[in-house]
Amino acid sequence: MSYIIEGKRSLANKLLKKFLDYTLLIRTHFPEYLHSQSIILCYHCLKKSKESPNVSEYVYQNNCLEADLFESQVMWLTTFCEFVSLDDILRLKKHKKNGWKVAITFDDGYRSVVELGLPIFEKHKIPITWFIATKFVEEPSSLPWWDLIGYILEYYTHKLKVEVFGKTYTFNLMDHAQRFAFQSTFDNLLRNSSLQKREIIQTTLLDAITQKQKIPNNGMVRKDDLKEISKRPLFTFGGHTHSHVTMAKCTEEELESELNKNKQKLKEWTSQEIKYFSYPYGKPKYVGKSGFKAVQKAGYHGAFTTEMGTLDRSSDPFKIPRLPVDPHWALNRFKTRFCNINIIKKID
Ligand SMILES: [Zn+2]
Repeated sequence: MSYIIEGKRSLANKLLKKFLDYTLLIRTHFPEYLHSQSIILCYHCLKKSKESPNVSEYVYQNNCLEADLFESQVMWLTTFCEFVSLDDILRLKKHKKNGWKVAITFDDGYRSVVELGLPIFEKHKIPITWFIATKFVEEPSSLPWWDLIGYILEYYTHKLKVEVFGKTYTFNLMDHAQRFAFQSTFDNLLRNSSLQKREIIQTTLLDAITQKQKIPNNGMVRKDDLKEISKRPLFTFGGHTHSHVTMAKCTEEELESELNKNKQKLKEWTSQEIKYFSYPYGKPKYVGKSGFKAVQKAGYHGAFTTEMGTLDRSSDPFKIPRLPVDPHWALNRFKTRFCNINIIKKID
């Protein structure tokens, strides 16, 4: 949803929208005069401006941010912000210090973070925290469901018939509206499923298309690369569950296993202490009370949502907000969001 009031727009609403747009725009141009804040940015994957197709690995490019645009965001931030690590930004919130502080995080474990991001991090000396779902690193043939949906949309232009849990879904993937319906139906189904149900749905989807298509590997970082990268001082690693589960749909035993496996493997691969965690799907409804509790029990020092907000003294260390950066935002949209995060949060 847009940050401006949507829906039935009366004249008053339209005027209010214009006023808010104008106010936010003015504020965006003078960040150095605004009250400084601590903001943690949340990214996922990067892509080249002109992507040459990789036939053996697949990442849904629509979900990735152009590396050039990422660097433009970084360069704008360097004009008034200091980039700090998660350790520092969390420590600093306790001491009232002047100046904008930014910490950058990436979720999931896409290799493009190293291939395209690393030169930018090193050039601008940006500490990065990378939250990794270990299953996709360990099993290159396991495509995350959101990439499988992207793959079907991109390469499967037939009629798709899928039967799951006694329900039959049929989509003509040559039709624009039905492509959208397929994407939203399965996004919703998979995001809200237990691990077992998710696997059944994914297998059914794969069965429906694999007579004609061979599915490529995922585009996640590999174990050996992680070992190498962990030697670089800019990188810190964090947990994201082993299989990127919907925590609210897990039993207590599943939560414990998902969290422990993930933490153990990351520790082994990176030789780092794994102190922080980012909740898969980021919103509290996908985490659930038992999910929040399990992360604390797993011995983490802090955990991050995708709820929009700044970091302050009152932030709950296990519900730390971030600014999730939409890969489709133009640079100006990013600037507006960044400078007005608390205003936008209230009217969103
Ligand atoms: Zn994730």
